[in-house]
Amino acid sequence: MPKRSFNVKAVGINPTWVGFLDTGRKNWNNTSAGTSIGRKSNAKATFTAGRYNTSWYGLYSPSGIRGINRVFKIKVNAKKLAANSGSKMTQWSRSTTTHELGHALSLDDNPNTSKASLMKHGRNRATVQKPKAYDISEVKRIYG
Ligand SMILES: [Zn+2]
Repeated sequence: MPKRSFNVKAVGINPTWVGFLDTGRKNWNNTSAGTSIGRKSNAKATFTAGRYNTSWYGLYSPSGIRGINRVFKIKVNAKKLAANSGSKMTQWSRSTTTHELGHALSLDDNPNTSKASLMKHGRNRATVQKPKAYDISEVKRIYG
């Protein structure tokens, strides 16, 4: 794990959220970034969602070292998303899920670029759900 190919385990989430995870995986795997993100019940990396009383939409918590033994946990906050997404809950959930998987691909928040990026907190979550050209080029640069 720490490569562009890794698996994630869905933990304690309903089919709707498994669907968001699968969409997030496809949003990456369908690009030219060279990723292969799978969903496996025995994966060490985990993805879950819940109604947390926190300010974040999504939280990426890595442990270990990239390229050696990196494992991560992703949590997505359904409560905060529901509170702020209006009628766009599905879109915001997909944007957040795909963004968090971007962290698992070693991308940082708010990259220092004027180009559009899925990793910017100021993005329009209703319309920016997939990796942008900049994000794809960054994954290629990091793992190239
Ligand atoms: Zn982030």
